[in-house]
Amino acid sequence: MLTWDEEVKPSSQNSLAGDLQNSRTDAATSSASSADDSAPKRRVNAADKRIINGQTDVNQLVPFKYKWAWEKYLATCANHWMPQEVNMTRDIALWKDPNGLTEDERRIIKRNLGFFVTADSLAANNIVLGTYRHITAPECRQFLLRQAFEEAIHTHAYQYIVESLGLDESEIFNAYNEVKSIRDKDEFLIPFIEAIMDPNFKTGTTETDQTLLKSLIVFACLMEGLFFYVGFTQILALGRQNKMTGAAEQYQYILRDESMHCNFGIDLINQLKLENPQLWTADFKNEIKALFMKAVELEYRYAEDTMPRGVLGLNASMFKGYLRYIANRRATQIGLEPLFPNEENPFPWMSEMIDLKKERNFFETRVIEYQSGGALSWD
Ligand code: FE
Repeated sequence: MLTWDEEVKPSSQNSLAGDLQNSRTDAATSSASSADDSAPKRRVNAADKRIINGQTDVNQLVPFKYKWAWEKYLATCANHWMPQEVNMTRDIALWKDPNGLTEDERRIIKRNLGFFVTADSLAANNIVLGTYRHITAPECRQFLLRQAFEEAIHTHAYQYIVESLGLDESEIFNAYNEVKSIRDKDEFLIPFIEAIMDPNFKTGTTETDQTLLKSLIVFACLMEGLFFYVGFTQILALGRQNKMTGAAEQYQYILRDESMHCNFGIDLINQLKLENPQLWTADFKNEIKALFMKAVELEYRYAEDTMPRGVLGLNASMFKGYLRYIANRRATQIGLEPLFPNEENPFPWMSEMIDLKKERNFFETRVIEYQSGGALSWD
């Protein structure tokens, strides 16, 4: 088991947890407590709802205004899955076979898990302790609640893979402190979580609304939309070669979930921009572009670190094009110009991986459909 007292030092994770208790009263509580019990309450008018700084009661889901958020919530629920439903027997046999995988393939798997075992906890903490209380649209809050649970499922999935393969838990769970290419990505992200979870942080001014918008962009477009993609591609490439199919199947479900998180985040960003056009200034756009460039550089360094040589038909330089292609896509999705014009996708099969229905016969262990209310249907 992981011995936590080996490495007890102050970290952003600790401060994330500590601030839960100090969290300022959120919009839900304040709107409820400020009501005068003797006066009839004004009914919610959908047109009055706002993504941020709204004055309507956040406890009333309907009347709907942001139907897209509700529909995405329903879609994520229909994609429900749990890690322990995926059979890991073949992965375990392959991992334990001294000739089953090359050293480079083993390095990829360990680095991958080293990043992801804490990445989804960061994403979950960002929602629960940061984003959630600043969003005043209950339909969007409903999605965020589901998303937070999915981040927990993803952390569970990585833990389940680590445990199934009998990896050194201490090595994997500490990688985000100890492996530079992973630490650098997390250090890029953490200030954007801490800014919005600060108990004194409150939206309502141009400056603070921009801080929140920046944090939403960093998480949707750069964390879930870019920092996950080298790792996903690597594990799915293993799966395509019929290796680590249990892990690859879980990564495929996670990719589908994350792609929904990213799309929801982009809709949220665009709606927030629509309601608050004054935030989208030239300076702000330049700041966002610089963050995109930095994120591409960090993810490329991670690709180099995880693939010092070519492996699985992949090499780090192929990812330079891929990351630029993804960054262009994320930039245009939020209304920025492409940052690297004319990049093409070197891994077109990755786009198909997001749609499980098309790929359902791909892996040996496979799911036909996973809709709510039932268990997995296996072939
Ligand atoms: Fe996510």
